[in-house]
Amino acid sequence: MVSRPARLNPPMQSVRLLDPASGLDGVIAIHSTAIGPGAGGCRFWHYADIGAALDDACRLAEGMSYKNAMAGLPFGGAKAVLRRPEGEFDRVALFQAFGRAVEELGGTYVTAEDVGTSVADMQAVASQTRHVAGLDVAEGAAGGDPSPWTALGVFEAMQAAARQSLGAELSDLTVAVQGTGNVGAALCRRLADAGARLVIADIDPRRRNTLAAVLNANVVDVADIAAVEADIFAPCALGGALDPQSVAAMQARLVCGAANNQLATPDVAELLRTRGIVYVPDYVANAGGIISVSAEYLGEDRASVAARVDQIGGRVAQILDQAKREDRSPALVADEMAEAIIGEAERQAA
Ligand code: NAD
Repeated sequence: MVSRPARLNPPMQSVRLLDPASGLDGVIAIHSTAIGPGAGGCRFWHYADIGAALDDACRLAEGMSYKNAMAGLPFGGAKAVLRRPEGEFDRVALFQAFGRAVEELGGTYVTAEDVGTSVADMQAVASQTRHVAGLDVAEGAAGGDPSPWTALGVFEAMQAAARQSLGAELSDLTVAVQGTGNVGAALCRRLADAGARLVIADIDPRRRNTLAAVLNANVVDVADIAAVEADIFAPCALGGALDPQSVAAMQARLVCGAANNQLATPDVAELLRTRGIVYVPDYVANAGGIISVSAEYLGEDRASVAARVDQIGGRVAQILDQAKREDRSPALVADEMAEAIIGEAERQAA
């Protein structure tokens, strides 16, 4: 069986962001608003040109449609991708300019943190628009930095998948974590608490070395992390970690991580399946952050965030069960579930 080359329709809207005064240069891609406004974080990263940023924004926005639908959130899918200026720039001015662009969309797009952005950046955005979450929130309120919730959801997903597909507890397993940033580091701490052995890699020596010392983790080169001897591979850096080369070299029997768009191309899901490697669809495992963002934006409480994140493990087990029964990739099974939810919303809106 082969995977379909594409999923839902291409983004229905993309908005070019350009403000030379502040250095803002990027794009907002809105993939689907069938269920509600497009919600998805703002990535601030190095891109060779605007075409590369647009490609990434479109792929990420599509993934957000699936993620939000699957998590039962009242949002469609969208994403902002901003090119990080080379050299000096005024960070607050840049994110304020981005905030004005979000405001101009009148609530069609709701933003938050992603790779390269922080709570402070979202505070700058919030000075221009209310269509933003991931802000400083009062003690005990829902919201703030979404990363801890993402890490918790990935941990729950990994635990459920390890029990179901490896018949083992995390305390008996070794996990190779690629990327020890906000989510990766929080995930490593949870895994260490659960008694898992850790192998980690990050291009940033400060991030990996401090963590390795605290958690007694082995550090390997970034080029080797996907192929090290481990039971589970957890991609927690950027997208595309799973390609024909990394899958061919992988020793792990389970993949479960935080990164968005882990499959370099959709057909890699089938390569994983034929190698007997169980893949937990990224957008199912990593929904914790957007669940928190959604609750903050909608004024819900922390208990509702915790309850939704708590459902991730069960959802993963259900998808893996069905994939096993039908001898199909979990990626295909999850995509069909999400498409059914979005399709139903489209029918009701028509
Ligand atoms: P982050 O920027 O804090 O961390 C990313 C880390 O990956 C950094 O430490 C970076 O140095 C490292 N890295 C980059 N390229 C690498 C490589 N080739 N090999 C090893 N390490 C590399 O970002 P984050 O918020 O932790 O997000 C990590 C991933 O999870 C991203 O793909 C993001 O889209 C996804 N995600 C994050 C959230 C969230 O709540 N932050 C939610 C859902 C999905």
